[in-house]
Amino acid sequence: MVETLVAGEADGDALDSATAEMIAAARGLGGNVDVALFGSGLDQPAAEAIAVGADKVWLVEHDLLDTGGTDAQVAALEQVCKQIEPEVVFLGRSALGRDVGPRVAFRLDAGLAQDCIEVTLDAGTGKVIVRRPVYGGNAVATATFGEDGPQFVIMRAKVYEPLEPDQSREGDIVRLSVDIEPSMIRVRHVETVEAAGEGVRLEDAAVVVSGGRGLGGPEPFAQLGELADLLGGAVGASRAACDAGWVDYSHQVGLTGKTIAPNVYITVGISGASQHMAGCSGAKNIVAVNRDREANMFKEASYGVVGDWEKILPAFIETVRELVKS
Ligand SMILES: Cc1cc2nc3c(=O)[nH]c(=O)nc-3n(C[C@H](O)[C@H](O)[C@H](O)COP(=O)(O)OP(=O)(O)OC[C@H]3O[C@@H](n4cnc5c(N)ncnc54)[C@H](O)[C@@H]3O)c2cc1C
Repeated sequence: MVETLVAGEADGDALDSATAEMIAAARGLGGNVDVALFGSGLDQPAAEAIAVGADKVWLVEHDLLDTGGTDAQVAALEQVCKQIEPEVVFLGRSALGRDVGPRVAFRLDAGLAQDCIEVTLDAGTGKVIVRRPVYGGNAVATATFGEDGPQFVIMRAKVYEPLEPDQSREGDIVRLSVDIEPSMIRVRHVETVEAAGEGVRLEDAAVVVSGGRGLGGPEPFAQLGELADLLGGAVGASRAACDAGWVDYSHQVGLTGKTIAPNVYITVGISGASQHMAGCSGAKNIVAVNRDREANMFKEASYGVVGDWEKILPAFIETVRELVKS
């Protein structure tokens, strides 16, 4: 059993889904699970955190946490860790995990493992064992931590299922004020620009329709969008399609893009490189359209059509339209 702290995040008024996933991963280690939420007005996400498995939620408050960006979060998380002394600290692969986590781990002389997809406990040493993709997703490494300091685990999203919310679960919500001096804020937050997003978020979509280099240009993405709309889903892309400028990087699925776990993942003109599959291996069903019957995507797909997308896609969209109408 280890005492864990999940450095949590809110998504508007709700608990961020990646935080709920980390709480589930932390519960699997057997000990108490504390969650820290940084900033003001987070009572609702705190209640949700308890419903999905947290034992105690620390509402970490300071005016500068609302305006001071990651410098303020670094100061706050360091103080929370010193006060609670967790053995394991979980963070998501957001700015918190990529920027704040490593800086706090350095200050605490702690070890840190990025991009973890599995966390278990070594009963012998009491240390956690993590598994993480390496070499561009071509291999998975198993790692553990040294003797001293808390163990910082940065979790990839969509690899753990959040626990079913139980509104009757009881837990403590504790307010904690931290000491942050304005002189600690060296990066000035100028503006937050919301990514222009329409419809369902790629990471949360039950159906994702993705296109790759095989589409040959940006225009076919309009057809993928049409299909995604009919299915109530979202549009994704391979990195090759994003690099070509056919579609914005916010649509990229893969190792250096988004991790998705939809019920249905339809890929059109995507070869299935390991770096792409690293972002969609959690998909329940993959449907592949590719003219190369040897394409790796067919090895991963539950359903596949070998052929030219220009012939297949319009007929497929028409059939789905008829089915949706009826
Ligand atoms: C460190 C690193 C990180 C990376 N991160 C990512 C990542 O996050 N996401 C990602 O996607 N990639 C990533 N990549 C790139 C990855 O290795 C591949 O290069 C990329 O996924 C290929 O994209 P693609 O499948 O669209 O293109 P290709 O590999 O060129 O495949 C195109 C496919 O389209 C098919 N095709 C062509 N014409 C047609 C047609 N008319 N009809 C039907 N099918 C057709 C072809 O048979 C082929 O299989 C990364 C690479 C590195 C080194």
